Amino acid sequence: MTVIFDQDKKDLRLVSEKARHPEKAHRPDTPLQRKPDWIRVKAPVSREYNETRAIVREHNLHTVCEEAGCPNIGECWTKAHATMMIMGDTCTRACSFCNVKTGLPGQLDAAEPENVALAVAKLGLSHVVITSVDRDDLADGGAAHFAATIDAIRRHSPKTTIEILTPDFLRKEGSVERVMMSPPDVFNHNLETVPRLYLTIRPGARYFASLRLLQRVKDIDPNAFTKSGLMVGLGETREEIMQVMDDLRVAGVDFLTIGQYLQPTRKHAAVDRFWTPEEFAGLEAVARAKGFLLVSASPLTRSSYHAGEDFARLKAARAASR
Ligand code: SF4
Repeated sequence: MTVIFDQDKKDLRLVSEKARHPEKAHRPDTPLQRKPDWIRVKAPVSREYNETRAIVREHNLHTVCEEAGCPNIGECWTKAHATMMIMGDTCTRACSFCNVKTGLPGQLDAAEPENVALAVAKLGLSHVVITSVDRDDLADGGAAHFAATIDAIRRHSPKTTIEILTPDFLRKEGSVERVMMSPPDVFNHNLETVPRLYLTIRPGARYFASLRLLQRVKDIDPNAFTKSGLMVGLGETREEIMQVMDDLRVAGVDFLTIGQYLQPTRKHAAVDRFWTPEEFAGLEAVARAKGFLLVSASPLTRSSYHAGEDFARLKAARAASR
């Protein structure tokens, strides 16, 4: 059993790991490290937080903010910034860092794109981030569903800018092209970690396939904004991160986010160490020197954290570079 924070009951409750992550149930427990002082988050208690939660519930939506147990939920939801997670709450992969439920998902909800668009309009978002679980069970990996969601948001909220954070669409030929038929304003796909750790951290993914996906978006539309993210604290070295930065620049990626990995439960990958705020500042400086238009690196950075403000900065940085 593991203890989680139940957003509805505003209380801790015990859940069976077997129910959420059957593939991890028989793994030995990993040690939980005490968090350092610089990882402090506000409890989710504001009136605006409750309003955001009510809209999410009313439209029957899932959010990665809740499913992944994001530490920033109090701050983000107070600003109505919720990252919608489409195509259900069950992921077909089994990454060892991720708290999203795993297993065999149900059928796609054909009404979901419209429901997401209505919620975005109700929240009055100027910028929205849409992500999803991995859907290896679908022939296109869910590409058409992403496109339908983008189309529905454009219909209901034509001024809202749209950022998508997609799975890798591994072995789903034509999926990136299908999504790009309804181009988002920002196309994000996270590399998550360095290639050496893929086998243990992202066992269902392939490092070069993820890089190629990002490169492919730029091939289709050289003016597209692309973005990717890394977690640190999983055992990677600084040199390995430098190499990933170089690979991302070769793939033309514009925006890099780097945040600290936090271990969701004892069955997930252990934190190797907590990088200090000074080390994050050092990573940010190096990434900027390598030519990213924008870099966000801090212990609590997540790929959708402050995404609206960052999109404005991203556009300004490109305009200034031309
Ligand atoms: S950082 Fe992203 S995932 Fe976390 S609460 Fe904010 S919007 Fe949600």
